[in-house]
Amino acid sequence: MQRMGTPSETLYLIKKHDFTIQKRYGQNFLIDENVLRMIVDAAEISEADHVIEIGPGLGTMTGLLCERAAQVTAVEIDRELIPILKETLVGIPNVEIINEDILKLDLNRILEDSAAKYKVVANLPYYITTPIILKLLEEKYPIESITVMIQKEVAERMQAGPGTRDYGALSLAVQYYSRPVIVTTVSQNCFYPRPKVDSTVIRLEIEKEGSVAVKDERFMFRLIRASFNQRRKTLVNGLTHGIPELTREQIEEALRAMELPLTVRGEALTLAEFAALSDLLHK
Ligand code: SAM
Repeated sequence: MQRMGTPSETLYLIKKHDFTIQKRYGQNFLIDENVLRMIVDAAEISEADHVIEIGPGLGTMTGLLCERAAQVTAVEIDRELIPILKETLVGIPNVEIINEDILKLDLNRILEDSAAKYKVVANLPYYITTPIILKLLEEKYPIESITVMIQKEVAERMQAGPGTRDYGALSLAVQYYSRPVIVTTVSQNCFYPRPKVDSTVIRLEIEKEGSVAVKDERFMFRLIRASFNQRRKTLVNGLTHGIPELTREQIEEALRAMELPLTVRGEALTLAEFAALSDLLHK
């Protein structure tokens, strides 16, 4: 395999294939070998793993992943990149390239081996960060971990706790379905073209059972969404408007039972408190 992940190699490939960088696909290619290695190390890939890479781009990280994993399935939306990937990954036996939109792809087509250990690794196109992470978590695919480069602000939202500006529905979903660990922040200079935002590598360790006990997780997430949709309102007002089948009296009674003030806002509640509230309100 040729040496990848340097600025000169990236520019050479782009020029050779007369490739036009597509902003709409969030194409910011990694041009720093240390960062590449850091992502792959953080993913803790072993010979037993089947890695799903979202957006292989020029194949820069794909080759490294193939060296460590049993199998790599790389899903790339841009068909103009497929001939480049065929060239950069030539001769590598354990890679499959799928030319599709990861958001539309039925992942069960890939995750069909019940004996395999699946891990997702990606330098994500930032425009799909939230939908793809929520899809991977909520659909409960048999994935062990997700190690991704994402926008720094989004990584901070994923890790945020109650009472902070960044805390919201995304924090609670990520922290219910997984244990997020920030690996490192990455300078804008490590990409070509240079993005306008800073980046962070985050690893989500999937929790098979959910990190708190709750009778009906769908109902809990309805409560969470309703309370953060109306961020400036009290929790009672947010839920009265957002969940039509609940009366103000029922919500107030549940808050009293939890010894929370009736003026409390959703952003003050921990995940465990949302779970307790959900169990009290669910019929
Ligand atoms: N992995 C490469 C790297 O690190 O240099 C490229 C990363 S670049 C930030 C994101 C990649 O995701 C691009 O190759 C882009 O074409 C691809 N992509 C964008 N949207 C996608 C989607 N919906 N499904 C699959 N791939 C997508």
